[in-house]
Amino acid sequence: MRIRMYNVGFGDCFCIRDRKSSLLVDFGAANSKIEGRPRREVFDVIISDLTTIRKKNLLLTHFHPDHVSGLLYMMRYRRDAYEFEKIYLPDVFSGPEMKYTLALLLLADVTKKASLPGRRVSLFALAEALCARRVKIDLLSRGSEFEGKYTALWPDLREVSRETEDVFNSLIENHENAMTELVNIAEEVRQLFLSMTEEMPEAEQKSAPLSEASLVEEDTEESERSLTGQTEPGGENEGYTQEKLELIMEDTGAAAEDTAEAPEEAEKERARRLKPEKLEKKFRELQATGEFQALLESAEKQGHFLRQFRHKISLAFQNTGDGELNLLFTGDVQPQYMRMIAENYDGRIPLHEHYWCIKVPHHGTESHFFDFSSFSPENMMIPNGAYYDNSKKKSKNQRTSMQYGGLFYINDAHMYCSNCDCCDSYENGCSCREYDVISPSYYKDI
Ligand SMILES: [Zn+2]
Ligand SMILES: [Zn+2]
Ligand SMILES: [Zn+2]
Repeated sequence: MRIRMYNVGFGDCFCIRDRKSSLLVDFGAANSKIEGRPRREVFDVIISDLTTIRKKNLLLTHFHPDHVSGLLYMMRYRRDAYEFEKIYLPDVFSGPEMKYTLALLLLADVTKKASLPGRRVSLFALAEALCARRVKIDLLSRGSEFEGKYTALWPDLREVSRETEDVFNSLIENHENAMTELVNIAEEVRQLFLSMTEEMPEAEQKSAPLSEASLVEEDTEESERSLTGQTEPGGENEGYTQEKLELIMEDTGAAAEDTAEAPEEAEKERARRLKPEKLEKKFRELQATGEFQALLESAEKQGHFLRQFRHKISLAFQNTGDGELNLLFTGDVQPQYMRMIAENYDGRIPLHEHYWCIKVPHHGTESHFFDFSSFSPENMMIPNGAYYDNSKKKSKNQRTSMQYGGLFYINDAHMYCSNCDCCDSYENGCSCREYDVISPSYYKDI
């Protein structure tokens, strides 16, 4: 087994490669430029690399653009290469009460700090991508085993629902109507994702849902604009992708033909593909109402708390059986949850004593720092290339925490940083200074 860490600037993209099957963990970048290259060029290199792997699944830790924008690009321009057998998502969809969490996620996406006008809500963009070509979705939460060798450590559904309740109750008090409308939309989003967890009928799997014509790249000027339009990486401000997936609806006719034996299924599929855009429109209409604006104003007051929800649901996982090559992937998990996970707070899943490889949470930034030294990790992966985007905003809090440099009393610990220029541990003896840095390469194998 080896891990390929791709250099996607401030973003995550890892491929855990195995002889039998591979798992891609996240695929996104917040930068519009990575190492001076337009990010679409970097996405193309990664996509070409992925096409060399026969059997692969995809796991998305959460729905921030720096973890999914590459996937959205792939669905728009390289749909031919989109050949995952299964997609894993954090479970914010399976239980009826999760509509409240989803409502808060939608609300978080439209608070002032979260997005500029016109930017897309990430859940809708993702839904649209996932609906464009059906792949079976599996939902994961603490305790779920997957791929026959990994166990999810987070999200803990009870914990998320408890926190949802606190925030939700404080908001519904004076905004009952707007909140009820929002929850109705959230419930439809939930049902949509849930419908993609169903097994697909044979006919549907075989059919190519969209015709070749739809794969032809459209107006490149527009696509260029959409790719450079957002450059705000960072905890609070991970930018929102504007990549609009053109879903050429006329082509649903072709899909219907292919699945002629199961007209009901074809009809269901057509409805599914149209759904994200419809829901997004509904949400926009709701946003235009005075009642929603008032709700938004109240929400702004606890904006920080609300935006945290997008990391509260982040997937974290490890390999199930303790062995030589223990892995810990932490997505952008919140530090207080990382502590709970490390303490095995519910007695269900102890962490391993030692890790061969750890992907640090949230790009190694100070706000999400966690001290992994007691696990004597051999390799730490720190995907942070914030300084190599073309953004003028180069804030300190997006850099790799210098505390990670403290790990260097551990013999043979390696830190794989995307770029030394973003690493405050660099001065502190980070091994990225010597040889472990990924820049300027596209990837490094660990
Ligand atoms: Zn994130
Ligand atoms: Zn992130
Ligand atoms: Zn470093």
